[in-house]
Amino acid sequence: KKPNLLISECLCGVHCRYDGKNNRIDELECIQSLYNIIPICPEILGGLSTPRPPAERVGQLVINNIGVDVTKEFVRGALRTLTIAQDNNCHRALLKAKSPSCGCGEIYDGTFSGILTTGNGVTTDLLLENHIEVFTEKNIDSLIPKKSDD
Ligand code: SF4
Repeated sequence: KKPNLLISECLCGVHCRYDGKNNRIDELECIQSLYNIIPICPEILGGLSTPRPPAERVGQLVINNIGVDVTKEFVRGALRTLTIAQDNNCHRALLKAKSPSCGCGEIYDGTFSGILTTGNGVTTDLLLENHIEVFTEKNIDSLIPKKSDD
């Protein structure tokens, strides 16, 4: 039986990004051959709509580019995502790099100028705290076993 894998919905081709676009990955079929995918979009689960103003983490808050504090929606989306992960026994997640919800290791720095800083998205932080391993499309190879020559 294939293990379940939590995955950012935008990586599956769903138009749930803030700008109404998606980030479909070329490896989707390969990932689906190895895992049962459980797609989630934390920002939609948190009650935000698409399209929406882009938001960035500013310390413990999340603020959008018109100055509205959307921390509550981001936290609600993270909690709902964690519940879905736990209900589906997901030990691993493949999330969208750099996002204020889904990023892992580096995110935008809160100045809306395209500058990255060290950090995780709100959902990623919560998943990691709950011992769910988080990958992004940048290190997707770690989720795909290498073919051996023998
Ligand atoms: Fe993709 Fe995550 Fe942003 Fe939703 S919250 S659009 S899944 S990066």
